[in-house]
Amino acid sequence: MFSYRHGFHAGNHADVLKHITLLSCIKLLHKKETPLMLVDTHAGAGLYDLQDRFAKISLEANEGILQLAKNPSLFQTNLDINDYFQMILGLQSSQDLKIYPGSPYLLWQSMRAMDKLRLMELHPSDFPVLKENMDLLKIKRQDIKLDMIDGFGMLKAYLPPPSRRGLVLIDPSYEDKGDYRAVLNSLEEAIKRFATGVYLVWYPVLTRLDAKEFPSRLKKLCQELNLSWLNAELRIKPVIEDGLSASGMWIINPPWQLKESLENSLPLLQTILQINDSGSYTIETNPTT
Ligand code: SAM
Repeated sequence: MFSYRHGFHAGNHADVLKHITLLSCIKLLHKKETPLMLVDTHAGAGLYDLQDRFAKISLEANEGILQLAKNPSLFQTNLDINDYFQMILGLQSSQDLKIYPGSPYLLWQSMRAMDKLRLMELHPSDFPVLKENMDLLKIKRQDIKLDMIDGFGMLKAYLPPPSRRGLVLIDPSYEDKGDYRAVLNSLEEAIKRFATGVYLVWYPVLTRLDAKEFPSRLKKLCQELNLSWLNAELRIKPVIEDGLSASGMWIINPPWQLKESLENSLPLLQTILQINDSGSYTIETNPTT
């Protein structure tokens, strides 16, 4: 269960898709001046060193954030990609892009003084690192709470947020096959308490049956509960049995204009990240969105 370490994958193409989608949602939600609760059920370590032993073994950032860093002129005019990239540049102490931010850092950077941030991470090695990283950042004394706990089970405890506005990121590794079911169960419980929340689920696009069926199971859940949804997938190369060539984001109750934001950013991400012109993307929504 604890074999997964996000340090091996930090800054890969899946992180790029997930983090740009996350920031785009928050930006759109911040158009309203009401406090927002941001919840990250699978937070990871918060910050990653792209030159440490994990990243150097996998080199996954080479097919993700480091491709963007090589081609900044290609996304200069896209505010969503550019804002994400500037947040990352703001973390570096030298010219090299060495530090990659996980979702907790990006959430913290995006939150306003009125917002709340709730982070959960179960890994006994990653939680202390997350805590140390977030303790360093708590200088603004915002309302941030970290729990070393099962995020699937804990989520409902934070819902509904007092302001009745919230965004939840559910980002498990799916190395445990039970994660597919656990996501659906925890979404169901969460929606019972807070049906108007914005829920973002990341998932890998793989040839395995449970992975292949996952988007249709999410769609079924949304249809049964009468919820609007948006599904975005980004492929950087053909999906074959080994490795991660593509991933997706399933967003329940997508903020207004998210589709337009992603319609602008995903073609650029495809151009920048694809290998041998073999990339593609899809954006699908339910008819009422
Ligand atoms: N959200 C992070 C980001 O975008 O930077 C990456 C998260 S990583 C894909 C998944 C994390 O979930 C790992 O750090 C893993 O240790 C943690 N984890 C696994 N099972 C968990 C559970 N039941 N509850 C909370 N965290 C869990």
